[in-house]
Amino acid sequence: MTPRRPDTLFRVHLIVATLLSVLCVLLPAGIGHDALYTVVSFGCVAVMAAGVRRHAPRAAGGWWLVTAGIGVWACADLLWAAYTWVLHVSPFPSPADVLYLTSYVLIAAGFWRFVRARGGGRDREGLIDSAIFTVGFVLVSWVLLMRPGLAAAEGSRVAQVLAAAYPLGDVLLLALLVRLLTTGGARTVAFRWLVGANALLLVADCAYQYTTMTGADAHGLITLPWLLGYVAFSAAALHPSMRRLTDVVDGEGDTRFTRGRLTALTLASLVSPGMLMLQLALGLELEAWAVALSSVVLFLLVVLRMSGLLRHLEGQTARLAALARTDALTGLPNRRTSDAELERLQTRARGEGSTLHVAILDLDRFKSFNDTFGHQAGDSLLVAAAAGWRTGLETAHAAVGPGRAAMLGRWGGEEFVLLLLGHDPDAALALVDGLRGLTPAGQTFSAGVARWDGLESPAELFARADTALYAAKEGGRDRVVAAAPPSPVEVPVSRG
Ligand code: GH3
Ligand code: MG
Ligand code: MG
Repeated sequence: MTPRRPDTLFRVHLIVATLLSVLCVLLPAGIGHDALYTVVSFGCVAVMAAGVRRHAPRAAGGWWLVTAGIGVWACADLLWAAYTWVLHVSPFPSPADVLYLTSYVLIAAGFWRFVRARGGGRDREGLIDSAIFTVGFVLVSWVLLMRPGLAAAEGSRVAQVLAAAYPLGDVLLLALLVRLLTTGGARTVAFRWLVGANALLLVADCAYQYTTMTGADAHGLITLPWLLGYVAFSAAALHPSMRRLTDVVDGEGDTRFTRGRLTALTLASLVSPGMLMLQLALGLELEAWAVALSSVVLFLLVVLRMSGLLRHLEGQTARLAALARTDALTGLPNRRTSDAELERLQTRARGEGSTLHVAILDLDRFKSFNDTFGHQAGDSLLVAAAAGWRTGLETAHAAVGPGRAAMLGRWGGEEFVLLLLGHDPDAALALVDGLRGLTPAGQTFSAGVARWDGLESPAELFARADTALYAAKEGGRDRVVAAAPPSPVEVPVSRG
């Protein structure tokens, strides 16, 4: 006999359990309805436990906590039915309530394990986003469920505690649901069923609390989301993808500001003013304090979120700016930076009346080095040469003291540029010449050095240094040549 494929089992369970749930809802309120309800609920708990055992996921602890939570919930349902049909007394309040409240805590604890395992423990943005949703939900829950529930339970201390405890249990479930949704882990089939199951539980709870409070019929359709919640929890645990629930796909995923998240956050932060407008428009009693307090908290959370985004952006901008200034291979300032630095040094030289030299260094026969040793080795040589020259320059500068500046940059390819401020011409030539001995792997370079005349543009100055470099190459390479002074500019004589 061939083993049944896991998704066949999954589908069969899903169809059977859903059909039984619908059948249960169609039955009239009575012992038959409650018996089928018990069969579906305990059946789903058993399937869930079997799924966790079968798949033995890494986050088994979380799955067992949720399974225990659903199991305790089913026991509470059974106890509730027993009060009604066997003892013929009202099940509210009763030990069933203690069981229900325990299961909130168990399910929440399981979800918290999932959140942690999916890398959500240290993600500040996800935490703030979940807080924004939760505060919005708390306000709605307070206005629609908690406050009227507390008022209705006036007179009985136990009933009042329960009237507050159930909505708080839902707040806990919602907070963890949103927190799970803000994690960056894989959105597998099991993940979706788990999220759906929690959402069904919330919908069922809120609908039940609302209908009982308003005196509407609490039986019939109202039990469907609960039953489907059981089905969804068991489906999540039975699906093979439940093993990957704690796989983190990418660390960045959690902080991404998707359009969906932005829309949801906007709506959540509009809950407070929305509630106020609704109460004004419908002429309801104003919940001024609740609206004011939640507005303050929502504002603070949004500002906190914004400050986080700004900090993130600032860091990113600084990193990008540094990247744009630097040559990726050698880590030296790149051509753009060298150009800017030359302009800056020209201004400074003019102001201080100091000298400014530009040298262009070009590795000799580097093409054949690449051809002989490979491009990779060529890259390594460029890195080593840059590091060697830079160290040489730093040492030379430490020896000559302040008032001088030097900057070595990568001009492009195997060409480097050296800017020297405050050196007399002989010292500048000697300094560049001194770098020859620091070139690694027996390589040599040729260089042209030009002294700024105080008037030339950067392009003209570079052109003279380049001509000198050409002369150095022509002269046999492995040498430093000083550029000729700029040719005198013809001054047009005005004839009058
Ligand atoms: P010359 O002495 O006349 O300067 O000869 P040369 O071979 O150094 O000059 P040429 O301009 O003909 O060739 C420069 C070579 O530098 C070509 C290219 O293969 C190499 N090169 C340029 N950039 C890089 C780089 O980033 N990495 C490596 N490995 N090679 C580079
Ligand atoms: Mg070259
Ligand atoms: Mg070269």
